[in-house]
Amino acid sequence: MIRTRFAPSPTGYLHIGGARTALFSWAYARKHGGQFVLRIEDTDLDRSTQQSVQAILDGMAWLGLDYDEGPYYQMQRIARYHEIAERLLQEGLAYRCYASKEELDLLREQQRAAGLKPRYDGRWRDSKQTPPVGVKPVIRLKNPSDGHVVFEDLIKGKITVANNELDDLVLIRSDGTPTYNFGVVVDDLDMNISHVIRGDDHVNNTPRQINILKALGAPVPQYAHVPMILGADGERLSKRHGAVSVLHYREEGYLPKAFVNYLARLGWSHGDEEIFSVDQLVEWFDLTAINRSPAKFNPEKLRWLNQHYLKNENDSHLAQLVKPFLEKDNCPMRDEDYLLQVIQLLKERVSTVSELADAAVYFFRPLEPSHELKAQFFNQEAKPLLLALIDKLDALEVWNRESIHEAIKNTATAFNVKLPKIAMPLRVAVTGEAQTPSIDAILALLGKNEVLARMKQQIN
Ligand code: GLU
Repeated sequence: MIRTRFAPSPTGYLHIGGARTALFSWAYARKHGGQFVLRIEDTDLDRSTQQSVQAILDGMAWLGLDYDEGPYYQMQRIARYHEIAERLLQEGLAYRCYASKEELDLLREQQRAAGLKPRYDGRWRDSKQTPPVGVKPVIRLKNPSDGHVVFEDLIKGKITVANNELDDLVLIRSDGTPTYNFGVVVDDLDMNISHVIRGDDHVNNTPRQINILKALGAPVPQYAHVPMILGADGERLSKRHGAVSVLHYREEGYLPKAFVNYLARLGWSHGDEEIFSVDQLVEWFDLTAINRSPAKFNPEKLRWLNQHYLKNENDSHLAQLVKPFLEKDNCPMRDEDYLLQVIQLLKERVSTVSELADAAVYFFRPLEPSHELKAQFFNQEAKPLLLALIDKLDALEVWNRESIHEAIKNTATAFNVKLPKIAMPLRVAVTGEAQTPSIDAILALLGKNEVLARMKQQIN
């Protein structure tokens, strides 16, 4: 059975890179009818927060990345790491090291001064010294001193590392917490993980993890190290490149299916397909189709995809999505049908749900035009036009797009001006903005009383 996992450290928000790794692990499990496990790696006590755990859980739920097991928490498994470390100690495959921090700092300094790569020198490895009193030891692995670690990465191909490049890594710290490498190995083993799919910032850890597995006589899983995501400037993706937190995109009103589609294309492709559903992703997904070179994050492309999905989204669903945004914008709700008509007028013009809400505000409450717009459009020439139009609109017995259009056109003709000369001041008076959908459609929807009240308000 194929079992994959996502193993984030809850030390910040769920970022795009993490979400993409999670998506690939999830898709691989789903494609093969396997299982996907969520494990929270919270052993860094200074940096792990409950808030971050929540952001991970919320982010995954938003993206629809459901898991079959978990979340497991490493801090709840401490006894298990000790049990395994104890076993390695008893078998002579690990040892206690009492070297102090000062001692090791000095060692590193000396090694650097001698032009050597700083590494632990194994001073407690076969030591018969009596342990110093009052010092809490760490537990280290007896890394094999010769030979090589070789593994076939499903993305990067064959990787070979000489054992003499690796030192005796710490398994359990002196405070009793497991190191990242040890926790991962014990967990991946206990959780029967068949495929470890993760960012390639961990590729250097893999030979160490394999050595721990070998010491335990345990099978080695398959590894797939996914190349990093870079910003447009070729640097590793970070806050400098704009928002990198997944939940930020939820707050901005991106659609999860657009976001998932975009994430999938970050470093993976299926022919020339740009737009596909999550079901198609699962059907097509393959680790071997992941690019060996890093992907570039392109927020404009994400927007473009979101706009595509938004345009094709069902209006009632959009109505549900946009309501909370409108409430935040202090827009008193009107009936559902009204909102649906607003959405039809605006959805082609925006890229996100939050933009949809912003563009919809004047349908729910008047917006005061800026000074610039007033100065530009409410001039001496415009006032008599608007006053005449108020009378014409007031006199209309049928209030619809056609009759409104006629009234505007007739007023323009009567004053011998081009249509925009009246349509622009009208637009600014009614919506507070200079760029909107067709003005007769807006007036028809707003209703006569509201339109006349707004016009009168503005020309006084
Ligand atoms: N907890 C590690 C991280 O967030 C990932 C560990 C792994 O996938 O092996 O970088």
